[in-house]
Amino acid sequence: MQAHTSAELNRLKQVSQDSDVNVSVRHGRWQTAEDDRVCEICTALNGVMFTLDEFESGSFRVDGYDYQLRPPAHPGCRCHTQVQVGYDPEDLPPIEERMERFEAYSV
Ligand SMILES: [Zn+2]
Repeated sequence: MQAHTSAELNRLKQVSQDSDVNVSVRHGRWQTAEDDRVCEICTALNGVMFTLDEFESGSFRVDGYDYQLRPPAHPGCRCHTQVQVGYDPEDLPPIEERMERFEAYSV
């Protein structure tokens, strides 16, 4: 697994560390540009919540190609992650459920 970390993930981690709110930020929501240029790959991820660890090491497969589970997932990807504050990790559906749209994934 490559150690590459996207600028977007770094931004999320920075917010997590700098956050002056009283709850730790351990999650982000995948957010597409929500216009008609968003690809199918990212449409399937729109609104799905992931932990920072999942963003860090996750990947998923579409049509035989592997993509990293963090924006930009592919060239031209305009997605970003939306910080989720005060979210209870216990409320997060199991990863199998969150990734069920994909052929394969690893986190
Ligand atoms: Zn995208």
